[in-house]
Amino acid sequence: MKVLVINAGSSSIKYQLYDMPAGQVLAKGSVEKIGDDDSKLTHRCGSQTTTREEAVADHKMAMQRILEILVDKQMGAIAELAEIATVGHRVVHGGEEFTGSMIVDDRVLASIEKFVDLAPLHNPHNLVGIRAAQDKLPDAIQVACFDTAFHTSIPEVAYMYALPYELYEKYRVRRYGFHGTSHRYVARRAATLMDIDKYQFNTITCHLGNGCSMAAVRNGRSIDTSMGFTPLEGLVMGTRTGDFDPAILFYLADKGYDMGQLNTLCNKKSGLLGISGVSNDMRTLEQLAEEGNPRAKLAIEVFSYRVRKYIGAFLTVLNPLHAIVFTGGIGENSPLVRKLICQDLDHLGIRFDAQANETEKAREKTISSADSDVRIMVIPTNEEEAIAGDAFELAAPVAKAT
Ligand code: ADP
Repeated sequence: MKVLVINAGSSSIKYQLYDMPAGQVLAKGSVEKIGDDDSKLTHRCGSQTTTREEAVADHKMAMQRILEILVDKQMGAIAELAEIATVGHRVVHGGEEFTGSMIVDDRVLASIEKFVDLAPLHNPHNLVGIRAAQDKLPDAIQVACFDTAFHTSIPEVAYMYALPYELYEKYRVRRYGFHGTSHRYVARRAATLMDIDKYQFNTITCHLGNGCSMAAVRNGRSIDTSMGFTPLEGLVMGTRTGDFDPAILFYLADKGYDMGQLNTLCNKKSGLLGISGVSNDMRTLEQLAEEGNPRAKLAIEVFSYRVRKYIGAFLTVLNPLHAIVFTGGIGENSPLVRKLICQDLDHLGIRFDAQANETEKAREKTISSADSDVRIMVIPTNEEEAIAGDAFELAAPVAKAT
């Protein structure tokens, strides 16, 4: 079965075409800068990469371009669109309602629409992606995979904020958590690599990319996570604050900042960028820190210290802890950040292997010493593969029955 995975953002659509259940990637690519005159389509199939720059007005047109190139005689991966039996969509917010991936029907669509209120920056684009796919591939089964779903197992004690309870009753203000597909993928993969049953596996997963979050996973289920009502809470991120005293907002409002400015400040101007004053990109900061830039160094240290603190917090709810897993652009590629996070934790049974940490190139690797009670691992995330797997699992019985 051919499964097309779609990740629709505000100005881009990323896609991967899978042959399932083999999990083979037949083609992948993206349309970026949707709505601009110089939108860019990048498409890879086998060893061939194609790039095209042309105006792509909206998401519907972007989907049209993607489908055209998938069946293109030279660059395409399939002969006709009818081969795509299923489309798996990444959807950011599924509220408390969706505990797993769902076949999209009118009720599911209405709920995703309802959750626009909770994720105004993401769900609208995810919806546009689903509608464009429905329009262009009316016979395909559409499946929605929610970033929040993996975290719906978090117990009340961990998701409830100490705010007046009626805010939860009235507005569903609570911790939701995000990056769920990634946390689930690397937790399962780590269990497989350690040869432990996934439902008896305890791990702390650290997804460190532009957005950053951690999850405490007990018996294969998320029981706590660092992101909250929105992705703003928790770790220091590329441009987001993570945890800070909310009274700072009242203080700044008193100084004349309005809501919009505060929102931009917390989501777009803070984090690594805010502290360093120069960049949200860890590679750039590492380079600058090496050249002696004190604020780049400070940004990296604050970033790493926050992850370390959360490891401490999550250790208290995981007994025994089998593994700590690093993933995401920074988690997978920055030995420096991993070292700042993991060194000198021997008193907790976490023994870091500095040499293994520096080893380049291995995609999946262990960076703890053989005598460590807790295995520390680097596992590249693959949200697309997880979405393709879910879509296949849900769609295969339906496809068979029809
Ligand atoms: P997104 O959350 O947008 O998917 P990624 O997971 O790709 O982002 O992570 C982007 C981050 O990973 C950036 O801060 C980037 O600098 C960092 N990164 C990528 N490669 C390296 C590297 N070799 N060393 C340090 N940081 C890296």
